[in-house]
Amino acid sequence: MYDVIIIGSGPAGMAAAVYAARAELNFLVVEKSISGGQILQTSDVDNYPGIQSVSGFELASKLREHAESCGAEIIEDVEIESFRPIAGGYELIFDGGKTMETKTILIATGANPRKLGCPGEEELTGAGVSYCATCDGAFYRNREVFVIGGGNTAVEDAIFLARGCRKVTLVHRRDTLRASKNLVTKLKSLPNVSIIWDSVPERIVGSGQVEAIELRNVKTGEVVSYPADGVFVAVGTKPNNLGWEEKIPCDEGGYFLADETCETKVQGIYAAGDVRTKNLRQVITATADGANAIYRIEQYLAEQ
Ligand code: NAP
Repeated sequence: MYDVIIIGSGPAGMAAAVYAARAELNFLVVEKSISGGQILQTSDVDNYPGIQSVSGFELASKLREHAESCGAEIIEDVEIESFRPIAGGYELIFDGGKTMETKTILIATGANPRKLGCPGEEELTGAGVSYCATCDGAFYRNREVFVIGGGNTAVEDAIFLARGCRKVTLVHRRDTLRASKNLVTKLKSLPNVSIIWDSVPERIVGSGQVEAIELRNVKTGEVVSYPADGVFVAVGTKPNNLGWEEKIPCDEGGYFLADETCETKVQGIYAAGDVRTKNLRQVITATADGANAIYRIEQYLAEQ
C-alpha cells in the first residue's frame, strides 16, 4: 500500500513528488497523458522567481527531472476512473480495471481555460491568443489588445494589461459585466480601456501571429474587424475534477473545496494546484500547494 498516490504531473504534482521523496514516503505519480500540465501550452514563463525566462516546455521538463532525480516514479498514459474506501486508505480503480491501494490520494489534475471555439483561436494560441494575462501580458507592452469576457478575471486582466498596453478593449457578450462593482469602477476609470458590449469573437485573424479580431454584435448580427496584437481569453476555467464532485465536495465551479493545507472534505484525500478553490492560479501557487499538501499528508500519516 502506497503512502500517497499523486494524480497529475503538472507543477503541483511534481512539487509534491519532490517533497514526498524528501519525506521518504512510499509514493507514485500517475498521469493520464504526458507530464507537464498547462505550462506545456505556455510559450514563456517569466514570473517564476529565480528563473528569469523559460519556455513552458522547458520548465515542465525541469520539474519532472527534479522529481525523478529525487526518486519519483511517474507512470504516464494511465487514467484513473474511480476510488473506493478500504481499511487504512483507498483503492484506486484504473481504466481497464487495474487497482492500486494507497493510504492517501493527492489530486493535482489542474484546470483548463474555457475556449471560445471560434476560427483562428486554436491556430493562433501562443501567437497572440493567450489565456493568461499575468503570464503573457508583459509581451504586449505598448501594443493593442482585446480581452474577452465579463467576469472578475476578464476585468482584472484588462486592468492589469492597461498598465503596459497602449490600448485595451474588453469585449463582453452582454451589456452588463458580471465582475464585482469595485473592479468595474476601476476599469471604467482607465483612459486606455474601452468596452465593446453585446459582442462575441467571430474570428481571430493572422498568419502566424494575431493581426485582427472580428467581432459579431449578438443583437444586430453586424460583424466588424478591428486590428489587434493580442487576444486574451478570460471566459472562465474548467477544473479537471475527474468527475468526482459527487464524492468530494466542490464549489459551484467544480473546484474541490480545500484551503492551503490542501485537505478536501474527505479524510485522506487532498487537492493541490489549480483543481482546488483558490484566489490565484499560477505555477508558483501550484508548486506551493504541492509542498503544503505533502506536509499535511505527513502529519496525517503520523496521526493514523
Ligand atoms: P466567470 O465568472 O465564470 O466569468 C466568465 C465570463 O465569460 C462571463 O462574463 C461570461 O459571460 C463570459 N463567457 C463565458 N463563456 C463565453 C463565451 N463562449 N463567449 C464569450 N463570453 C463568454 O469566470 P472568471 O472571471 O474566470 O471567474 C471565475 C471565478 O473566480 C468567479 O467566481 C470569480 O468571481 C472568481 N474570481 C475572483 C476574483 C477576485 O475576487 N478578485 C478574480 C478572478 C476570479 P456572462 O456574464 O454572460 O455569463
